Amino acid sequence: MKYDIIIIGAGPGGIFSAYELVQKRPDLKVAVFEAGHSLAKRHCPIDGEKIKSCIGCQSCSIMSGFGGAGAFSDGKYNITNDFGGTLYEYIGKERALNLMKYVDEINMRYGGEGTKLYSTSGTRFKKECIKHDLHLLDASVRHLGTDINYVVLENLYAYLQDKVDFYFDTPVETVAIIDGGYEVKCQDASYTCEKCIISVGRSGSKWMERVCKELEIPTKSNRVDIGVRVELPADVFSHLTDELYESKIVYRTQKYQDKVRTFCMNPKGAVVNENTNGIITVNGHSYEDPEKQTNNTNFALLVAKHFSEPFKDSNGYGESIARLSNMLGGGVIVQRFGDLIRGKRSTPDRIEEAFITPTLKATPGDLSLVLPKRILDGIIEMIYALDKVAPGTANDDTLLYGVEVKFYNMEVEVNDKLECCYDGLYIIGDGSGITHSLSHASASGVHVARDIAEK
Ligand SMILES: Cc1cc2nc3c(=O)[nH]c(=O)nc-3n(C[C@H](O)[C@H](O)[C@H](O)COP(=O)(O)OP(=O)(O)OC[C@H]3O[C@@H](n4cnc5c(N)ncnc54)[C@H](O)[C@@H]3O)c2cc1C
Repeated sequence: MKYDIIIIGAGPGGIFSAYELVQKRPDLKVAVFEAGHSLAKRHCPIDGEKIKSCIGCQSCSIMSGFGGAGAFSDGKYNITNDFGGTLYEYIGKERALNLMKYVDEINMRYGGEGTKLYSTSGTRFKKECIKHDLHLLDASVRHLGTDINYVVLENLYAYLQDKVDFYFDTPVETVAIIDGGYEVKCQDASYTCEKCIISVGRSGSKWMERVCKELEIPTKSNRVDIGVRVELPADVFSHLTDELYESKIVYRTQKYQDKVRTFCMNPKGAVVNENTNGIITVNGHSYEDPEKQTNNTNFALLVAKHFSEPFKDSNGYGESIARLSNMLGGGVIVQRFGDLIRGKRSTPDRIEEAFITPTLKATPGDLSLVLPKRILDGIIEMIYALDKVAPGTANDDTLLYGVEVKFYNMEVEVNDKLECCYDGLYIIGDGSGITHSLSHASASGVHVARDIAEK
C-alpha cells in the first residue's frame, strides 16, 4: 500500500501525469485512484425510451471514470493560451504551448492520427469580425470528435494498465500529511506516497474545497459563466466552421460593457443534457464520423459573472439559476429566438413548425423567466452582432437552450511547479481552478510529472 506517487483522478490531468511518469521514470511505483468506472464500464443509463432523464447514478458516467469529464466530449483540443485556462500565468506562455503540442503528438500516436487540425492564423474572418466589434481569438484546434477521442482513451489505457496500478470505483476520502509524504484514505483502505497529484476536475470541486479547508491551502473563488446553447442550421456558420471548426468570438455589449463569448462550437453536432450534482444543464458535442453528424450547428453564448465581497459562492449562484430552469421545465428549456424577443413562451407547436429540428428533446418554455435580465440582454445583443458575420443567426427559428452554466473551481494557490504550500502535493487540471479544458488539463499533468521525474 506504499507508492512513490499517487494520482487522484483519472481525467486528462491524471492520465497525462501517469503517462509522462511512465515515460520519464518507469522505476517509480505509481497508483491512480478514480471515483468513477473504468472506460469500458462507463454508460449513461439515459436511452431516451425506458430512461428519459437523469436517475442520479452514484457515479455519473458522463463526468467520472477513466477519461474524466471529457471522455464523451467532442474532443476539441485547443492549442492556445487565449482560452481554456490560465496555465501560462504559472509556467509561461511558451512552455504551456509546447506542452499542449506534446499532448497533441501523443494523442496522434494513440489513435488520433488523421484528425483535422484547424487554425485561425491568417484567417480573413478576423478582419470581418472586428468590423462588427466581434473579436476572434487565436487558436489551433485539434478536433478528435467523440468517437476518436474514445479510441485514444482506450489506447492510452491499454498502454498504461500494466505499468500503473489503477483503482476504479475508489473515491479518495481524505488526504493527510504524514512524515515523508501523504496518506490517501479510501473507504476500505489507506495508502501512502511520497508525492501526490490531485486532479479531481469539476466533479471533484466540492471534495477539493474540503481538502483545502482541512489542510489550510489558500484558495480564491469568484466566477461563474451563465448563458444559453444556440442551435441553428449548419449552413449559417459553415463558412466559419469549415475553415476554423471552432471560432471563439468575444463581444463587449454596448448596454452594460459585459463580455459575451461563444464557447464549445459543434458543427453538425447535437445538443445534450449535462448533469452537475443533480442539476440538468445543457452542453453540446459532435462526431468526426459523417454518418453521425446532424444538419445543425450548436455553440454556447456565455456571460462571465465575477463577484466581489462579501459574496463568495459563485457556483451556488449558477446552480440556483440552473435549478430555476429545471423547476420550470423539468430539465432544459428550449425557446425560439423569435419567441424570446417577442416576449412569448415557445410552445411544442411553434417548435414543431420551425424550419429547424431540435437535436435535444427539451421543454419549450420562456428563458426570460430564468435568466437575469442583464445576462439575457447581453446574449440577445451578441446574437444580433453575430448575425452580421453569420447572417441567419438572429433568425426567428434559431433555438436557444437554457441554461448552460460553466462552473469554475475555486483557484488553489500553487507555485510555478503547480505545487501547493506543501512539498510534493501538486494540484492540477480543472480541480485546481487553473485549467478549464482538455488541452490545458493534460498539459498541467505533463508539467508536474516532469517536475517529479527531475526531482
Ligand atoms: C460534456 C462535456 C464536453 C466537453 N467538451 C470539451 C471539449 O471539447 N474541449 C475541451 O477542451 N474541454 C471540454 N470539456 C471540459 C473538459 O472535459 C475538462 O476541462 C477536462 O476533462 C478536465 O480534465 P481534468 O483531468 O482536470 O478533470 P476531469 O476530466 O473532470 O477528471 C477528474 C476525475 O477525477 C475523479 N475524481 C473526482 N473526485 C475524486 C476523488 N475524491 N477520488 C478519486 N477520483 C475523483 C472524477 O471522477 C474524474 O474522473 C467538456 C466537458 C464536458 C462535461
